[in-house]
Amino acid sequence: MTNTQPTTTHVAAPAVVVRGRVIQRCAVCGHKLADSHNTAVVVSHGRDTSFPVWGEGHLVRVDGNRTTDVGVFGKDETPADVCLDLVE
Ligand SMILES: [Zn+2]
Repeated sequence: MTNTQPTTTHVAAPAVVVRGRVIQRCAVCGHKLADSHNTAVVVSHGRDTSFPVWGEGHLVRVDGNRTTDVGVFGKDETPADVCLDLVE
């Protein structure tokens, strides 16, 4: 299956905090979904308490500069524009 959609949907991996910076990537292709770089973040005991991230396992559709939560991986139908093609 080839992704011919103008959008790409990623699967949110758990966010990690590295040296006070919150980073969240796609669990499938590694696309960066969230990054607190150059933003003010409060980190307490290694866990971010203020920077918003996507829910773990949520399907995050990227359409240009807009990102939308379109469901949960394994619960909702996997979208046709899922990023698997980006791995190949
Ligand atoms: Zn992805």
